[in-house]
Amino acid sequence: MKSAENRRADVVIAGGGMVGLTLGLALARAGLETIVVDGFDPGLVLDAKFDGRVSSFAPASRRVLMALGLWPHVEDVAQPVLDIIVGDGSVKGGASAALLHFDHREMGDQPLAHMIENRHFRMALQRELGQAPLLTLIAPQRVTAATLGRSSMEVVLGDGQRLGAGLCIAADGRESPLREAMGIKTTGWAYAQTGIVATIAHERPHEGVAHELFLPSGPFAILPMTGHRSSIVWTERSDQAPAFVGLNDEDFAREVRQRFGDQWGAIKVEGPRWFYPLSMQLAHSYIAPRFALAGDAGHSVHPIAGQGLNLGLRDAAALAEVVIDAKRLGLDIGSEAVLARYQAWRRFDNALFTASMDALNRLFSNDIVPLAMVRRLGLDVVDAIVPLKRFFMRQAGGEGGEVPRLMRGEET
Ligand SMILES: Cc1cc2nc3c(=O)[nH]c(=O)nc-3n(C[C@H](O)[C@H](O)[C@H](O)COP(=O)(O)OP(=O)(O)OC[C@H]3O[C@@H](n4cnc5c(N)ncnc54)[C@H](O)[C@@H]3O)c2cc1C
Repeated sequence: MKSAENRRADVVIAGGGMVGLTLGLALARAGLETIVVDGFDPGLVLDAKFDGRVSSFAPASRRVLMALGLWPHVEDVAQPVLDIIVGDGSVKGGASAALLHFDHREMGDQPLAHMIENRHFRMALQRELGQAPLLTLIAPQRVTAATLGRSSMEVVLGDGQRLGAGLCIAADGRESPLREAMGIKTTGWAYAQTGIVATIAHERPHEGVAHELFLPSGPFAILPMTGHRSSIVWTERSDQAPAFVGLNDEDFAREVRQRFGDQWGAIKVEGPRWFYPLSMQLAHSYIAPRFALAGDAGHSVHPIAGQGLNLGLRDAAALAEVVIDAKRLGLDIGSEAVLARYQAWRRFDNALFTASMDALNRLFSNDIVPLAMVRRLGLDVVDAIVPLKRFFMRQAGGEGGEVPRLMRGEET
């Protein structure tokens, strides 16, 4: 690892998660000296036990990976999602007939998304980090403070190192200590729901089909992985989740089967289970003088449609673009005019998405009869109107609104 003591950079990013490192790579590739500081040991985050999640990469996010040279590292372990089937149901009654079917053939025969295990994506980022001389990762280390100077931001690390930069970005996750330290408030609430995540090996092939079943306790998603494996994201009431997580493999598999029936033949739970308390949160502002938020630090969304990371990558692509453009024009990259462009581009979009995911979750996470009728009717309507379905697929694919260069697959 390169050392960086009391040094200056163009940009310092607090948080080297999937969003922070992608952003760092985009900036460094375009010639900006960038330092990323992360609290975790880089070896630890690649361990299979660290993060069991598998993320859906929308087509626009995949293009970011391609533009940054990350795609060749994950191509062999990425599972294309060809169809998404949405259904309504109850635990005992299992899934109802499909209410909504998204078919990749309606979108020019391209996969609707690719499923990639988070650890594989993190591995790809670390590999490319080694190829980017202008990018330095300092880890494990924490950012403890950021103070605005006359023409730069001074960032203080846990061991006393001081870094100076024209711009400091917080990509330090949902709790974002730096957002708090900068006094940026948030609006949001915890859902009384927890996302249980596990990998299931199954007898029959999944054929690249993802399923989302709406149960009264919340959505239950089965997401195809490479081989005869799927990742489940089982949203459960938080007061009940620990009991399910604590079941032995056999009983856990029985609970999974009860919810989704026998469509895959025999199933087996592979590896550990994880659980993530769910919340919705939006920052009141994405920017302050010489400071910006990206990823979960700015918005935390319900995983009902698997969009949190996709939104974070869109932040990264948009922020990289405005900063790189400013640098090329000889402007101050931390100036209000530059950062205001980023805020105008991303904040409303994220707010709209976060609110939509919240509304969807509320509409679907219950078994109140009139609501169940409305949602069935709504899904039937969407399913029947092809242009409407295409519209939703395009939005989920990251193709709506002003698309950043990286998401169009262009270099920064
Ligand atoms: C169950 C579940 C399933 C999901 N599935 C999907 C999906 O299919 N598709 C999708 O798009 N999204 C999905 N998401 C959302 C996605 O996982 C998140 O949006 C994404 O991980 C956020 O990345 P991030 O880099 O912004 O934050 P984080 O991953 O939280 O990273 C923050 C980083 O900041 C570091 N840090 C924190 N404080 C400091 C500090 N003071 N100094 C230095 N470093 C610090 C931490 O060490 C960490 O590495 C899912 C979420 C859940 C809970």
